[in-house]
Parts: sequence; C-alpha cells; structure tokens
Amino acid sequence: MAQGFPKTADVVIIGGGVMGTSTAYHLARKGAQKVVLIEREPFFGVMSTGQCAGGIRHQFSSEINIRLSIESIRMLEAFPEEMGQDIDLRFIGYLFLLTDEEDVAAFRANVALQHSLGVKTQWLDPSQIARRVPLLNLEAVRAGTFYQREGLCDPASLVQGYVTNARKLGARLFTNTEAVGIRSSGGHISAVETNQGLIQTPVVVNACGAWAPQIGRMVGVDIPIEPIRRQIVVTTPIPEVPPDFPFVIFFRESLYFHPEGEGILTGKSNPDETSGYKLSVDPDWEMVHMDEAMVRMPILQKAGLLSHWAGLYEVTPDAHPILGRIPTLEGFYLMAGFSGHGLMHGPMVGRLMAEEILDGRTHTLNIDPFRYDRFLAGELHPEYNVV
Ligand SMILES: Cc1cc2nc3c(=O)[nH]c(=O)nc-3n(C[C@H](O)[C@H](O)[C@H](O)COP(=O)(O)OP(=O)(O)OC[C@H]3O[C@@H](n4cnc5c(N)ncnc54)[C@H](O)[C@@H]3O)c2cc1C
Repeated sequence: MAQGFPKTADVVIIGGGVMGTSTAYHLARKGAQKVVLIEREPFFGVMSTGQCAGGIRHQFSSEINIRLSIESIRMLEAFPEEMGQDIDLRFIGYLFLLTDEEDVAAFRANVALQHSLGVKTQWLDPSQIARRVPLLNLEAVRAGTFYQREGLCDPASLVQGYVTNARKLGARLFTNTEAVGIRSSGGHISAVETNQGLIQTPVVVNACGAWAPQIGRMVGVDIPIEPIRRQIVVTTPIPEVPPDFPFVIFFRESLYFHPEGEGILTGKSNPDETSGYKLSVDPDWEMVHMDEAMVRMPILQKAGLLSHWAGLYEVTPDAHPILGRIPTLEGFYLMAGFSGHGLMHGPMVGRLMAEEILDGRTHTLNIDPFRYDRFLAGELHPEYNVV
C-alpha cells in the first residue's frame, strides 16, 4: 500500500472530472468527514471534462435541465469569489439556428417553458440572425433562438477550483489511483479496491462519466450509458471574427462554432458513431465535419488547424443523467450520463449529490426525473436539445 494512503473513509468518490471534484468540495463544505476522491489519470479533469467545448446554456427542453442550468450558472458566477479561482466565464450568448419545421415547433414549446422559468430566450427571424452573425451562411435557416446569459467557461479552472477548495476543507484527492474492485456484503457497500490499496467505506460515488458502466459491473449494477466519440477542431486566428460572436449551433446539422482564443472551435456530432472507448480522431469524419463547417462559415477556409481531439459523450437512452442512490445496493451512488452537457451542470449536481448522501435526499431540487428507477419503471422523457 502507498504510504499515507487512507485505509478508511466515510465516502469514496471514484472519478476526478467535474462531477467528482464538485461533489468532493460540496461534501466537505457541508461538513462531511473523511472524504476521499480517486482518479486514475495523472491529472484531474482531463477526460470528458477537459475535452469538452466549455459551453454553458439554459436552452433545454426539460424543466429539470433548465432548473439545473439556472442554479449552476448562478454558482459559476459566484465561483471566483467563493473559490478564489477565475474560470474565464464569458456570457457571449447561445444562438440555436433552426432549418426544419419540426424543430421550429419543438423550440417554440421549449422557449415557452424557458420563459415560464424566467429564462428570457429571444426568438429571432432570419433577418435578425443575419445582422447578428454576418459571417455565417444562413441558407434554409427559418428561425433562431438566442439568450445572452449563456456562453463559455474554462473546464480546467473549474476543476482546479474544486480540487483546491475541497483539499482546504479536509478532503483527500488522489491521482494515479484506479478503482479495480468494489466489495459489498449483505446488500451494503463495504470497501473499494484500488491499485494503491484497499479503502474500507460504507459509501461509494460512481462519478466515472463514460466509464461509469465499468464501475457498475464491479457490483452487478447495469448502468445504461454508452461512450460515444465526439470530435473538436480549433483553428488558427481569424481576425474577422467579431468579439461578440456567440456560441452558434446549427441544430439539425449538430454543427457548432464558438470563439476560442483568436480562432474558432467547431464540433459536429456523427449520428452514425458507434459505442466504444474511441479516443483518437476519426479522420474521415473530420473531413465531413470540416467540409460542412466551411459551407456554413466560409471564412474558415482562410484558417489553419491549430489543434483537434476526440472525447467521449456519456449517453443515456433519454439524454438525461442518472443521479442519486442506487436502490438495490445501499451506499452506492451514481452521477453520470450527462449526454454531452455535463460540464455546465457540474456545480449544482455536486451540491445535490452532497445533499443526497448527507441528508438522505436532495432538497434544493427534486431529482426524481433523474433517478435510476426510471429505467426499472420504463418511464423515459427524452431531452430534445442535445447537440
Ligand atoms: C467533445 C465534447 C464536447 C462537449 N461539450 C460540452 C459543453 O460544451 N458543455 C457541457 O456542459 N458539456 C460538454 N460536454 C460533456 C461534458 O464534457 C461531460 O458531460 C462532463 O465532463 C462529464 O463529467 P464527468 O466528471 O462525469 O466525466 P469525466 O470528466 O470523464 O470524469 C470521469 C473520470 O473518471 C475517471 N475514471 C474512470 N474509471 C476510473 C476508475 N476505475 N478509477 C478511477 N478513476 C476512473 C476518468 O479517468 C475520468 O477522469 C462535452 C463532451 C465532449 C466529449
């Protein structure tokens, strides 16, 4: 066993992305003793969290996702003062562009729901959109939705803020530490086996994102999450991009653009991507993506490739996460399956998980629509605004 490695804990969190680190912080802040987090990579937040596009938005179709965004974005605004860590939060706005009548109808209903919850999304017609984003080819665009209190933040800084502050409050967080087994007896969690030694604990939080099903298999719990590769390209500087260029999504094409440094970050989801732990860039899909990106944003033809990478979405059957206790195994908690929009929800979800563990149930937000039980009951209500 590695020297100084804990032999016991009150809670062991497996996974050091935004979900795990936010939970470690919120548990410690709420007074939990002996909180341990283990991450198998050499750094925290380098898997899906570090590979994401950094977008934060309220524009969802389900009430619970909108409520989560409202709370999380408030927490992100307070983050620099509360945590002493800047997160490069920028409200550049999100602009969804709609080309299909079916999407226009669905977004009208979504915008009505957003308004009822205080999210004042604007409905834009093609001429208003053309004035807002003159660099884009808007062929076939029928309408758009825009909300200014959305945009970007830096995932690495967010995770670093949680790690530093969780440690200040007494939590112990380890890298290079892999969970290799979980022990239970009599329907209760009893210990986590790691490559650094055994930790006796009555509570395990599975915050392993796309790898959450592997942790579930250690205790015989089937977790319906698929790892789906998603790719990103960042260009060299494009001086013509104005400072107020928003996070733009051609919704039907699953194609998005946002300013990144002095260039543009773009992504496009491959609808035929198959499940698997694929972390290298698919060059064929990158060709398809960039061909379409240059049609929609012709100025990209003048730019070069600065960097590109692939990461994993952690996709559930209804694109809603799975959150809370697992009813069949006492002490086993799950927070995963954010289906491509987890970074922005990490702050509030960490707080909710701390409530669920320490108070027995969440109370700042009812997470019933996210519970594992919905799969047992067959009650799925898919999120529509998935990119
Ligand atoms: C290309 C792309 C773009 C995205 N864009 C956005 C966006 O704009 N906005 C947004 O909100 N979300 C976005 N997302 C989604 C977001 O990144 C995820 O939902 C979120 O980061 C999930 O966080 P997590 O902590 O659950 O997972 P992760 O960050 O993957 O963390 C899980 C951790 O568990 C660790 N782990 C796994 N197995 C073990 C083990 N056995 N022992 C110890 N540790 C283990 C992994 O190493 C990993 O660090 C995007 C994702 C991708 C891939």
